[in-house]
Amino acid sequence: MLKLITFDLDDTLWDVRPTLINAEKKTREFIETKLGKLEWGSWEEFKEIRKNLIKTDASYGYDVGKLRKKLLLMKIEEKMGATEEAKKLAENAFEIFYIERNKVNFFKGVIEALSELASEFKLASLTNGNACIKTIGLDNIFEFNVSSVDVKSNKPNSGHFEKALQLTGFTKNEMLHIGDHQVNDMLAAHNFGIKHLWFNPDNLDWEVDCMPLPTAFSEWPSLVKEISKLQFT
Ligand SMILES: [Mg+2]
Repeated sequence: MLKLITFDLDDTLWDVRPTLINAEKKTREFIETKLGKLEWGSWEEFKEIRKNLIKTDASYGYDVGKLRKKLLLMKIEEKMGATEEAKKLAENAFEIFYIERNKVNFFKGVIEALSELASEFKLASLTNGNACIKTIGLDNIFEFNVSSVDVKSNKPNSGHFEKALQLTGFTKNEMLHIGDHQVNDMLAAHNFGIKHLWFNPDNLDWEVDCMPLPTAFSEWPSLVKEISKLQFT
């Protein structure tokens, strides 16, 4: 019988792109009011820096908050040198980023569906990101959140899923995972051996060859009905 439903957060409950673009813009504006115009670098450069940081400290690979703080500090230190003031400015800049990062616009029908499901099942969130369910106002709907920092690894590894079962005492056949990502959510849940539903609002093609196409839904108002069709033994 179904008892626990876990949800991915970014791009499953809200479109994360506009939120992150805005958060980044506000953070950069704040830093530039203090230091003047800066060169922020390309996506390729960012990936290279990230790769090198992970080589020195693996936690940069799963702690996106720590990674962002470090990137901000590196950028600020280019102008200010490695000073206490630079550290303070980086901390303040990250605070701005984090406030903005948690300002999300839910997809239509998310809160209604979650509220309905919460009356029947235990709900929780499993994220590779660093959204704060309390700040976002989901802490009364989700019993808990498991982030990559909590389990020191990212989905599609099984850490988030194992932690959810450990926290609830439920078994794999009592659990359903819902998410947008073909690998990090669907393949992860498939490999872990739990039921899964794919949120596919843009009607993307299925690209993961090593598992069958999951049941998908494209709008939140249809979710409760999709869940009721699933067979749990
Ligand atoms: Mg996602």
